[in-house]
Amino acid sequence: MTMAVSCESCGMPLAGAELHALSDPAIPYCIHCAPDGTLQAPAERLERFTQWMMGQEGLDYATAHERALAYLKTMPAWKGSFQPASE
Ligand SMILES: [Zn+2]
Repeated sequence: MTMAVSCESCGMPLAGAELHALSDPAIPYCIHCAPDGTLQAPAERLERFTQWMMGQEGLDYATAHERALAYLKTMPAWKGSFQPASE
């Protein structure tokens, strides 16, 4: 039985070692979230994820940003990294 592994930052399935940062299965992040082996800063990851989402979903920046933030807040890597904007 194999455990489903996915990036703890963005949730991308890590189906093979080559999808892990530095192709190292011990690193629980994908090549996009940790291109040099360490996790990107929250603001940078949020910005990149926003841009990615705009391209994928054809969203405007504000909508993509909102969705990206909501999504990343659910990921283990970012627990507590993004404070609620207004609550
Ligand atoms: Zn990732």
